Amino acid sequence: MSSRSRLTQGFAVIISAPSGAGKSTVCRKLLQKDKDLRYSVSCTTRPPRPGERDGRDYHFLTTEEFKRRIHRDEFLEWAMVHDHYYGTPKRFFDDRIADGSVVILAIDVQGANTVRRKRPQTVTIFLMPPSWRSLRERLLARRKDSADVVERRLANARGELSQARYYDYLVVNDDLAQAVAHIEAVLTAERLRVGRQELSLDGLPDVVRR
Ligand code: ADP
Ligand code: 5GP
Repeated sequence: MSSRSRLTQGFAVIISAPSGAGKSTVCRKLLQKDKDLRYSVSCTTRPPRPGERDGRDYHFLTTEEFKRRIHRDEFLEWAMVHDHYYGTPKRFFDDRIADGSVVILAIDVQGANTVRRKRPQTVTIFLMPPSWRSLRERLLARRKDSADVVERRLANARGELSQARYYDYLVVNDDLAQAVAHIEAVLTAERLRVGRQELSLDGLPDVVRR
């Protein structure tokens, strides 16, 4: 685990944000910079956007296959978002945490609620756009959704933003590099929690050993 001390227990970090606020962009940067992070690839029934790859961005499934996996209890959580099913594979989440990894999930506010309840050690970060105007501009700039899809996503954003108060951390994605640095600061602090580190007391002063 590079120069860091080993984690006795991994943990998960949820990043939620209204669509277009920059979750995917921020996650990509975090994963490039920190090779110890593991990304939880969600399953979805929505069609791939140009440039998206099956197995890397999402596992793209038919509705029938998604429902089969619900019945087999393969999701830690699943939700209907913007008229499509999305879900977090349970096995990847639990296995990676058991092996001491830090798992990043980019999921919506419903998913965050469920995971918070089922896995209370999960750290939650809400990523805010700097303004409504910039949210609309970013959704349009991405140019991967039709106009009516963009409007639906903006309408949903209101409800999502009202959930920000239930998160552990709030990060504004105005300047990208600064937003990434703020999330890295959260990850550093969470890794340093006493309960998550192996305490090796050999060679430390008596006062610590006692
Ligand atoms: P999400 O995954 O939250 O739906 P994306 O990561 O796809 O959002 O970002 C939406 C658009 O906004 C993309 O075109 C992306 O390049 C752009 N974007 C992301 N972060 C910033 C930022 N800090 N400043 C300006 N544009 C950004
Ligand atoms: P998009 O289609 O823009 O990639 O994602 C739409 C919304 O679905 C985003 O808010 C995203 O965070 C959310 N989402 C992606 N994967 C999951 C998941 O596995 N579970 C839940 N609940 N939401 C997800």
